[in-house]
Amino acid sequence: MSRFLKDRYKSFQSYTPGEQPQDQEYIKLNTNESPYPPAPEVIRALNETDLEKLRLYPDPTGRKLKEKIAALYDVKPENVFLSNGSDDILNFSFMAFNDADDNLIFPDITYSFYKVIAGLHDVSYREVPLKEDFTIDVDGFCSDTRSNVVIPNPNAPTGIELGLDSIRRIAEAGRDRLVLVDEAYVDFGGTSAVPLTKEYDNILVSQTFSKSRSFAGGRLGFAMGNESLIKDLELIQYSTNPYNVNRLSMILAEASLDADDYYKENSMKIQKTRQWTASALESLGAKVLPSKANFVFASVPAMSGQDLYSGLKKRGILIRHWNQPRIENWVRITIGTDQQMEKLAEAMKEMLK
Ligand code: PMP
Repeated sequence: MSRFLKDRYKSFQSYTPGEQPQDQEYIKLNTNESPYPPAPEVIRALNETDLEKLRLYPDPTGRKLKEKIAALYDVKPENVFLSNGSDDILNFSFMAFNDADDNLIFPDITYSFYKVIAGLHDVSYREVPLKEDFTIDVDGFCSDTRSNVVIPNPNAPTGIELGLDSIRRIAEAGRDRLVLVDEAYVDFGGTSAVPLTKEYDNILVSQTFSKSRSFAGGRLGFAMGNESLIKDLELIQYSTNPYNVNRLSMILAEASLDADDYYKENSMKIQKTRQWTASALESLGAKVLPSKANFVFASVPAMSGQDLYSGLKKRGILIRHWNQPRIENWVRITIGTDQQMEKLAEAMKEMLK
């Protein structure tokens, strides 16, 4: 820490991303990336890109990409916001819509970045505990009708989905508060709340190309909602980083939207592998939560979460574990290819012998 850092950041706890080892090959099941490569259309688009154009700034409005996203989700381009990964949307929306004196509410077991961004912008927040079975306490979100809400759907790291009727109830309970639905994992069998954004001007949906579109390294997120919400996000974008999406990512993301069938097929494969993985883990005595995401959340009674994580790491497999109350004996395992998941099951069998 330098002597120049502002006092308020001196003890600030930033977000800890999952490990990204650069010099050792692991079976990487720790950060919910896709095990499948981007579509051939994306590779072709990259090869055909005139790199000479990289000297020019990208289109800050992202018009062409917005038009394609809008067509796919049956909204208007004015209802679409583009960002550098969906983490950026969280950041921009916390900046735009939440204040120090009004509350933001989110589940107690959820994406840990919410707390960090809230802290960064001095937003006061309250955590609504998940129920005993790790489902979201919808009544808990409805009884507080004033606080803005952020909910991942499906939730992370549990993978459990909340039905659209519940999202509707939460939005309806307080029409003057904003409900941000973080749909980073919606493409693996979940149902999107995008159609609700036409009916509710207090629902904003964020999605990402990182998971289902095999594009975590390309950093592209997008939000959909009422035109006025999108304008508010753009106010923040143009006040922080007008060129928040780079030229190459924009071109490749457009190409990936032309290959929607390819990504849908991959999602089906991942859902099938998820089913296989859950059964394999259960046959080893694990509890596995019902997941609609590209990961499963599991607990093995015979072994602590930490030991499971370290034992697998020694065997060349990376998964995610949090030393946090209620979930210290649980681990999150990204769904990889069938072969990767077979190796995981073999390694666990050996560890449990
Ligand atoms: N929301 C949730 C719930 C996530 O798990 C992640 C990935 N860590 C994100 C948003 C952000 O993903 P990205 O910035 O890659 O779009």
